[in-house]
Amino acid sequence: MNQTVSSEDNPFLAMQARLDLAAEKLGLEPNIVAILRTCEREIRISMPVVMDDGSVQVFEGYRVQHSTSRGPAKGGLRFAPNVNRDEVRALAAWMTWKCAVVNVPFGGGKGGVICDPFKMSKGELERVTRRYVAGIMDLLGPDRDVPAPDMGTDGQVMAWFMDTYSMHARSYLPAIVTGKPISLGGSLGRIEATGRGVMLCTREALRHLGMKASSCTAAVQGAGNVGLISAMQLASIGVKVIAISDVHGGLINEKGLDLAAIAAHLQRHRRLDGYEGGTRISNAEILELPVDILVPAATENVITSQNAPNIKARILTEGANGPCTANADRILDEKGVFVIPDILANAGGVTVSYFEWVQDRMAFFWTQKEVEERMEHIMVDSFAAVVDMAKRFGVSNRIAAYMLGVNRVAETTRMRGIYA
Ligand code: GLU
Repeated sequence: MNQTVSSEDNPFLAMQARLDLAAEKLGLEPNIVAILRTCEREIRISMPVVMDDGSVQVFEGYRVQHSTSRGPAKGGLRFAPNVNRDEVRALAAWMTWKCAVVNVPFGGGKGGVICDPFKMSKGELERVTRRYVAGIMDLLGPDRDVPAPDMGTDGQVMAWFMDTYSMHARSYLPAIVTGKPISLGGSLGRIEATGRGVMLCTREALRHLGMKASSCTAAVQGAGNVGLISAMQLASIGVKVIAISDVHGGLINEKGLDLAAIAAHLQRHRRLDGYEGGTRISNAEILELPVDILVPAATENVITSQNAPNIKARILTEGANGPCTANADRILDEKGVFVIPDILANAGGVTVSYFEWVQDRMAFFWTQKEVEERMEHIMVDSFAAVVDMAKRFGVSNRIAAYMLGVNRVAETTRMRGIYA
């Protein structure tokens, strides 16, 4: 795998660059920083799977645990054609900081399988999932490593995951994975959690900046679980969402998009193509629209040193993990864009994953209202803590969020000591 890219596009190097900045501001001891810069444990597996036509395809899978200092590794499983080791490492580390920012008792991990879920049958997806679980079984456990959905995976994949693990363990263990269907120990409010967290952070930012939701416009890149729900949640507080996109391109309607109609269209066709209520624009154009709020909610590295100078939004809420490169950070700062960094903005998902894990372990389930209220408290308090840190240290929101998260992980790492 490509582990040596030193370009702007390597997300693990981008993670380390921000970690170094935060560590310097915090005055962390170099020994602790050296630990936090690397991943604790990584596995790469070859997974032979029988395809529907009888042929055997060998897939490549990864699981990376960046840190288990504060609790079991936690983080999603991604099925995508461009998964690579440094990306999974970065995503794992971001989970560590994210869980620490919202102060849930987890470390960080991430998994990935190089495959194209859109080109596979349901049976093929099931066999890949089960083979992956069996292959990484030794790393997993409700007290070791707890995966969840990410790009290309969903509740059905989590159901197969939980079933495979439970079959091998000879026990009913729903807490092995989160983001499950409700009937298998999933939590109410988990599906909407990331998009709702994006909205809550944006709402807090609007308050902080003295802006009114009802006089703001927004553009959202991504129409999956995070993008579409973020758009709908923003609309629910009065924001006019004028543009949205999927991998194939975007749609704009200056009068505001009919998101319910778009959701129904996506349900039927799985892509925005063919929807009549807007004009087509490209995924590059959507990022540069003159809107108040921009929500990149698709994938990494979409805002770089190349297009950062053209960003016009006042608030940039990172629904995706790593949508801005470290080089773009500097440009956005200079322009005065109010960035709500990924490890805060999209932390609503893992917050409700934590609630799901707690409920599974108690075998006692909460109402939607309980989930939503608890999650809102956590998101609002975490937003305030990041903004306060930024003000106190005179740093960007991104570095402030890293400082908050990294400091919590440094503290447990220091207290636990070095076992030799
Ligand atoms: N994949 C999501 C993320 O990147 C959710 C992780 C989880 O719930 O464990 O935050």
